[in-house]
Amino acid sequence: MAGEITIRLDASRYQIPTESDIRRGKSYILQREAMAQALEAQVDIILGDLAEAVVTLCYQYGVDPRTFTLTESYNPELMKKVQALMEQAEDEILSLIDDYATRCTKDRDRMGLLALWIATLGSRNRNLAQVTHDHMYKFIRDLEAAIAALRYARTELARAVTVVRTYLHQIYNIPEVRMAFTRSTVFSAIYIRSRGINPGGVGLSNNGSTNLTNMARLTLQMAWMMSQMMDFREAGAVGYYQLRGSDYKCEVCDEAEGFHLGIPDSTEWPHANCRCYRIPVFVNGETGAPIFSE
Ligand SMILES: [Zn+2]
Repeated sequence: MAGEITIRLDASRYQIPTESDIRRGKSYILQREAMAQALEAQVDIILGDLAEAVVTLCYQYGVDPRTFTLTESYNPELMKKVQALMEQAEDEILSLIDDYATRCTKDRDRMGLLALWIATLGSRNRNLAQVTHDHMYKFIRDLEAAIAALRYARTELARAVTVVRTYLHQIYNIPEVRMAFTRSTVFSAIYIRSRGINPGGVGLSNNGSTNLTNMARLTLQMAWMMSQMMDFREAGAVGYYQLRGSDYKCEVCDEAEGFHLGIPDSTEWPHANCRCYRIPVFVNGETGAPIFSE
C-alpha cells in the first residue's frame, strides 16, 4: 500500500519505529502470505490426487449411479480402501501444515512449541486433526455426488478424472452434477439428493476441499502471528504497533490499527484477507533493541 504512514505514539515514553522496522513488519506478512499460498498449492495437489484415486476406485468397482454412496453399507471393501486413502491424505496435510507453519522460525525449540500449539487449534471443540478429518469426510461425500452424477451421465473414467480435478473446489458446478440435481430423487448420494446443500454447514464452504485449504492457510497464519509475538516478547518489547497492509474495507482491521500495550500470549484468528502487520514497540531509553531476523 502506498501513502504516508502516521505513527501515533508518545515519543517521551516509547521509541518511534523506524523506516526499517516498518519494512521488516511488512516483509514478515509478505513472507507469511507467500508461504500460505505455497501450502495451499501443496494441499491442492494432495486433494487432486486423492480425488483421482477415489474416482478410479469407484469406476473399478463399477458403482451403480442410483444406489451408490461412499459408505460402509454400500460396499465395505471399497469403503475400507477409500478410508485408507483418506487417512493417508489427512496425515500428509497435517504434516504439510506443521512444516509450512513453523517456517517462520529457525529455532528448533520454537518450532516444537508452535507444532504443539497448532495441534490444539480447531473449531467447535475439535482439534486440528479432528477438524481436518471432518472436512476430509465432507470432501469424500462431495466426490460421492460427483461420481454418482458422472456414472449416471456415462462419463468415461479419463474424462471423469479430468472433470473432478478441474472442479476440485466447485464440485456442485460440474455440469453432470447440475444435471443430476434435476433428477435428484433417482440418486442415493446425499448431496445430489440435497442439491448440494449442506445443512448445518454455516460459515463453511459448500466444498470440503475449500474448507481444507482455508483451514491450512488460517492455521499457518495463526502460527506465524503467534511466533512473531514470541519474537517481540523475547526481545523485550512492551507492546506492538499494528498497521494496515491492504486497503480493502474492513472495520475489524481499522479498529485494530495503532498501538497495543502488552504482548498477548495467544493470537486471535486473523480473518481471511487480513494483511495487517505489526511492529514491536520499545520503551524509550532502553538500550540494545535486538535485531529481528528478516
Ligand atoms: Zn487486518
